[in-house]
Amino acid sequence: MKKKLSISLLPGDGIGQEISVEAKKILNWIDQNTELELDCFEELVGGASIDKHQTPLHDKTLEKIKRSDAIILGAVGGPKWEKLPFELRPERGLLKIRKELDLFANFRPAIVFDSLINSSSLKPTIIKNLDLLIIRELTGGIYFGEPRGIEKINEKISKGFNTLVYTTPEIERIAKVAFEAARQRGKKLCSVDKANVLESTELWREIVISTGKKFPDVQLSHMYVDNASMQLVRNPKQFDVIVTTNMFGDILSDCASMLTGSLGMLPSASIGYDNSGNKKAMYEPVHGSAPDISGKGVANPLAMILSVGMMFKYSFSRGDISGLISKVVNSILEKGYRTKDINDQNCKEVSTSEMGDLVLKELKNEKI
Ligand code: NAD
Repeated sequence: MKKKLSISLLPGDGIGQEISVEAKKILNWIDQNTELELDCFEELVGGASIDKHQTPLHDKTLEKIKRSDAIILGAVGGPKWEKLPFELRPERGLLKIRKELDLFANFRPAIVFDSLINSSSLKPTIIKNLDLLIIRELTGGIYFGEPRGIEKINEKISKGFNTLVYTTPEIERIAKVAFEAARQRGKKLCSVDKANVLESTELWREIVISTGKKFPDVQLSHMYVDNASMQLVRNPKQFDVIVTTNMFGDILSDCASMLTGSLGMLPSASIGYDNSGNKKAMYEPVHGSAPDISGKGVANPLAMILSVGMMFKYSFSRGDISGLISKVVNSILEKGYRTKDINDQNCKEVSTSEMGDLVLKELKNEKI
């Protein structure tokens, strides 16, 4: 009997809609060629939801996607909605999903495909065989801390302020997830903080150390964020797994993304657990809605397709399907096919839908 899994697909805005079409091709193939029955349903989020429901995430959509086994999201945002009040902007829909589902752990792998080694701005020797995982705390820290705001001090001067706050349970749970991930990889975890000047990250370091006592097989190190940003471009292969706070992770993971050459190649997963301990997760490419190329059929769909792969690994324990998707993507790149963002002189440039079709064609040659 087929195992039924329900998947929410939220294309969002801009190229999010284009790359979602390609993700659906892959999901359909998996549905038809494995013992999994994928019940995929589409919902609106971001600007698309604002246009229809005057809100970036409708309550009914939230309730529906909460009940699904996993969520796949394209991207949200665009110039059309930039002038709206903060609370009504497309990005609030995305933040609300993360917060409501308590998706506190953001996994961002940075893997360099051999055939793309020349797309990076770094020397091939520095990035060859790079396989790094950044785990960013996603629901706490300065992006959510209170008090926050902009206040007038007097006629001429205002002050803007945010609060960087972390509690023991928040740090413990992200540290545990990171140690567990490191245990399944190269058994090395580097915790990045600014413990020399920020008390909240002094606590972060203390709790990471105490959590690490339960993981004696994982080698733990610590690094200040300024040094970590330098080390990421100097010698990224020294890292296996990095765990860090919300804001530091936001910045470091974008920096790591450029090691691989293109934003269009980077998948991500945001993971949490409900009260019964069931895993909840959303999978999405790292990039945004790319208004500059939206509607032109040139967006790279591979980050989205690799995000689908991550879903099979992390939500459905099907590392075989995830591995197959990565293998197929690698093989297409080896054959010289490229979307515009990763193209170089000797390669064959293909459109968004042609790249999706190539992945599908290659999958059809594989056995699962
Ligand atoms: P962006 O990631 O959309 O684009 C940055 C650059 O990378 C652009 O030149 C774009 O063309 C290129 N790019 C991105 N993805 C690509 C792909 N798959 N293929 C080829 N090229 C690609 O970032 P931005 O321009 O700063 O933001 C645009 C909008 O997206 C904004 O409204 C922003 O708020 C939103 N955004 C959303 C998310 C999300 O939904 N998770 C993340 C980041 C930005």
